[in-house]
Amino acid sequence: MTGPEHTRPVVGRFAPSPSGRLHLGNLACSLVAWLSAKSKGGRIILRIEDLDKARCPRRYADQLEEDLAWLGLLWDEGGSLGGPSGPYYQSECDDIYTQSYNKLQELHLVYPCFCSRAQLHAASAPHRSDGEVIYPGSCRGLSAAQQIERAKTKQPAQRLMVPDEIIRFTDGHFGPVEENLARDCGDFYLRRADGVFAYQLAVVVDDARMGVTEVVRGADLLSSTARQLYLYRLLGLTPPTFAHLPLLLAADGRRLSKRDGDQSLENLRARYSADAIIGKLAFAYGLQPSPEPRSAASLIDSFDWALIPKADICLPDGLF
Ligand code: GLU
Repeated sequence: MTGPEHTRPVVGRFAPSPSGRLHLGNLACSLVAWLSAKSKGGRIILRIEDLDKARCPRRYADQLEEDLAWLGLLWDEGGSLGGPSGPYYQSECDDIYTQSYNKLQELHLVYPCFCSRAQLHAASAPHRSDGEVIYPGSCRGLSAAQQIERAKTKQPAQRLMVPDEIIRFTDGHFGPVEENLARDCGDFYLRRADGVFAYQLAVVVDDARMGVTEVVRGADLLSSTARQLYLYRLLGLTPPTFAHLPLLLAADGRRLSKRDGDQSLENLRARYSADAIIGKLAFAYGLQPSPEPRSAASLIDSFDWALIPKADICLPDGLF
């Protein structure tokens, strides 16, 4: 094999947002991210995506570390372990995000947006596949005077102007993807009205500064990738490769979420051993032919992306 992808040592990452206890959906992403990096002799970084400090108290991050370690999904750097590319908690990175945000401002691509969520929904603007409104650009054309006037009564969020151009990439699992940001997404948030930086900016800045070479995450974030590639380009950063995983659905077809308490690690740990959980999850993702207990490490040698289905995965009834 040739090319820069095969000469760079592989660095993968776990990037959980600890707003509650780990559940099967994010555990599946962690397992596959870990196996994908480890099967190439790579390293794994743990980055805590606690941008929203109020929703992500440190005790959830600590619990998450404890759960991952109990499952045998050990990371090489990050979280409370620290390492050379810290900080590893997004709640501590405001200064770092500010630098990149300032660069984007210098490009004259950032503008204040005074629209409320309710206004946007009421405007019956078209919606993206993830349910968010495609921003119609309402505040893009405000004059400086209008911006000053509106800022007297409302603290604005900040949006990034996007180009009317097709952004193409090859997803490591789903293959070629293309998206026109102007048509499919609209100008997107860089910063909330309360000053919190947006996930899209933080994730790009962090993956780049931590030297992440491959991003493995749920297919719900496939549609974020074009936005992130655009940010990599504007900031002059080298993007990683991206591979998205089919989502895990409850037996009745609903997406698993933190609300499915019975699928949280708290309840699973009360019922099963670590190897039993890993074995069942590996079976659901096609990584072993039966749900027998397996340690995460014992799955490294046989790991192959080609075994993982493309369609969302319905948890077989009675598996957990
Ligand atoms: N923090 C995000 C989540 O927990 C994942 C972000 C990413 O992998 O890019 O869903």
